[in-house]
Amino acid sequence: MITAKAAVLTQIHEPFEIRSYPVLPPPQGTARIRLIASGICGTDLHIQRGKIPIRLPAVIGHEFVGQVEAFEAGADSKHSVQVGDRVIVTIACPCGACLLCQSGDDANCVNMGVTNGSDPDTPPHFHGGFGEVSFAPIANLVRIPDGLDPRMTDVFACAGPTTLHTFRLADRANIPVGQASVAVVQGLGPVGLFAVMLLTRLGVRHVVAVTGHAKPERDALAIRLGATEVIGLDRVSSDDVICHVRALSDGLGADVVVEASGHPQAVPQGLQLLRNRGAYLVPGQYSDSGDVAIAPQLITFKALQIIGSSQYSVEDIRAYLEFLQAHPDLHETIRLLAAPYRVADINQAFQDAGAGKNIKTMLVADD
Ligand SMILES: [Zn+2]
Ligand SMILES: [Zn+2]
Repeated sequence: MITAKAAVLTQIHEPFEIRSYPVLPPPQGTARIRLIASGICGTDLHIQRGKIPIRLPAVIGHEFVGQVEAFEAGADSKHSVQVGDRVIVTIACPCGACLLCQSGDDANCVNMGVTNGSDPDTPPHFHGGFGEVSFAPIANLVRIPDGLDPRMTDVFACAGPTTLHTFRLADRANIPVGQASVAVVQGLGPVGLFAVMLLTRLGVRHVVAVTGHAKPERDALAIRLGATEVIGLDRVSSDDVICHVRALSDGLGADVVVEASGHPQAVPQGLQLLRNRGAYLVPGQYSDSGDVAIAPQLITFKALQIIGSSQYSVEDIRAYLEFLQAHPDLHETIRLLAAPYRVADINQAFQDAGAGKNIKTMLVADD
């Protein structure tokens, strides 16, 4: 019997348990995918710390990139994805029937399901991302075009589509983000770094990154990805940042601010940084990080536009892959951001990810 390893979260605040399960044929409607890389997201850290309640035990993880090994019997000819293809796997299962799905916005489905919630003792065992194998509905697979290194695509496999979805919602609201001349990105985790790349590639002239603390290596990376400057709030006061951004914009304030820090405190600052009719894009932030006082008068007085977004759809994954294809100059830099760990070393990987040691911690297949 062929077996593979899965990292099982049995209790919050506890280490993952490495279990071996038999590798079974794919059930109806699904494909079996062999791990290439599976990213550890801030959301996974929050789940492990009990900040996002889920049913345990579970194989969590939602940034799975792999190679399709098998489809349910006879299904492979019906689909655009074939056995052997490399794919990004999404765990999201929109209902297809609610008001949001019907309006073409299935990322914001009100009955959203996920593929990674089942007990790993229930066949086919590998329901989520933290395993050497994963099973997923065929509709949840997005083929990675030839010429893109699959491990490289895993670096921003969640942050990229998450950010792109927010920009798509801005587009739907007729907010011309690409015409901005001054943008601010708050926070330089994966979402912030991707927002920097996106804004600069859209042609935004000034992309100012604001972080809680200066971190020389990460800040240099942000500059390499296109940020015009990185300001650490441990060195510069919030008021000085606001003055500086106004000086860049003829006294007006930023056209666009992207909140990617996940810190509630960033929100009042973001509102202050914007010009009249400026757009505040708030992607990600999946867990409750607490409350913050804001002055609603800023929203009305400046007539601000606020776009929140937490999830994404297969369309956004396709847009992410197209973005990577359009910018080969970024590939080598992105590839080097991957800090790989074997599935069996997931507890070390989580510790390092939680300590902010890596830009992108990911599990990879054994060599
Ligand atoms: Zn994620
Ligand atoms: Zn729906």
